[in-house]
Amino acid sequence: MQRIFLISMESLFPILFWVNVIALFFLVICFKCDSHAKEKQVAKLHIISRLCQAFYYFAASGRGILPDFLSVNIAVTAIFAGFYFESRGILQILKVNSKFSDRFLSAVCVAFIIGFNVIELAVPLGGIRITMTSLGVFSLLLLPTVRMLLSRDAGPYVKPSAVFYVLFLIGLLARALYGLRHHEMGILTTNLLQSLTFLSLLLQVIIALPSYAMIIKGRSDEALLLMATTDRLTGATNRHAFQDAAEMVYKNSMHRGVPVSLLFLDVDHFKQINDKYGHAFGDTVLTRMAALIDKCLRGSDLSCRYGGEEFLILLPNSSAESAELVAKRIIGEVRRARFDRHPEFSFTVSIGVFSGVPLSGQAMDDAVRLADNAMYYAKKTGRDRAAVRSEDGSQTRIFAEP
Ligand code: GH3
Ligand code: MG
Ligand code: MG
Repeated sequence: MQRIFLISMESLFPILFWVNVIALFFLVICFKCDSHAKEKQVAKLHIISRLCQAFYYFAASGRGILPDFLSVNIAVTAIFAGFYFESRGILQILKVNSKFSDRFLSAVCVAFIIGFNVIELAVPLGGIRITMTSLGVFSLLLLPTVRMLLSRDAGPYVKPSAVFYVLFLIGLLARALYGLRHHEMGILTTNLLQSLTFLSLLLQVIIALPSYAMIIKGRSDEALLLMATTDRLTGATNRHAFQDAAEMVYKNSMHRGVPVSLLFLDVDHFKQINDKYGHAFGDTVLTRMAALIDKCLRGSDLSCRYGGEEFLILLPNSSAESAELVAKRIIGEVRRARFDRHPEFSFTVSIGVFSGVPLSGQAMDDAVRLADNAMYYAKKTGRDRAAVRSEDGSQTRIFAEP
């Protein structure tokens, strides 16, 4: 049975070199194919990491043939750097972007590079090298491994990968202790401990490749979905995505017999804003408008940029009274909104409200039309106000006038 686990280090290190070279090719392809700056940054960290690690296994395989300076000092420096970049890459995949972890990893990496090279000058013993290298790599990988184990929404591939990291970390700790007692041990010494430690690393790299591809694919799917459902200028939901979600809420309210409210919002004299302050400033006003709407709504409410300077809001399970409160809040926020670029500038909106229990046979578009009509009524009677349409559509009442 031992045969299957006890692999000669002289064979395992070249294999690790080639696996890292393959991973490197794979990552370069990912880097070239991915158009998102953030994903490219993650790929870049992993590419540097694989380069450093490939160099380490190449140089360490030549221990005794290559000069010690290359196969010990530079190689161990490269492996610390390699795992430093790997850890940062893992944290970025897990979306952990904390300055503390970046600084912590940098400090650990620099401390071990200096520490190793100084100790190597004083006591150039194989066992001590192994202890120092193992402790350094252990310290660099501990944080991302813990984060991987704790992460809940990182996808199905992260946890299996984390299991191999845990095995590798256990192996590293055991090697660190073993190296302290066996000074004659070298990096290419074959024993069960060395073999199991590097075997778990080899399996981890092999598992990491498809998981990396799946994670990148998931991310680009997410980005595509966001692009397809979001208005690029304002960041608000776009009309089509809103319609899909709103239709579901509308039909659900119809079946349950509960009221919904629709608010049709149009910025007043927006053409004049563009003409007087420029199109770019008009865009800023629209972006602010979307943010103000967001601020005034609950998590379950839906909103979208319906067209140029028009926004549509759907309040599920909401009576006319609560819709009026929301409309008043938005009108108030808009009146108070100020812009650094033009401190004297202010703007207003007109809102049309329709509330009611959706009737069977009444499409959501009919309700949108009623809210739109109410909005035009608010415009006609002076703008900067809201109008609410009675449920049967026969009366319109103005509120929130200046
Ligand atoms: P009213 O008070 O009656 O609503 O008048 P208005 O000027 O707001 O309405 P109108 O429909 O005449 O003008 C809307 C303007 O919105 C015309 C169009 O150029 C501008 N617009 C549409 N989309 C955008 C955009 O994305 N950015 C900017 N800056 N302007 C836009
Ligand atoms: Mg308009
Ligand atoms: Mg307008």
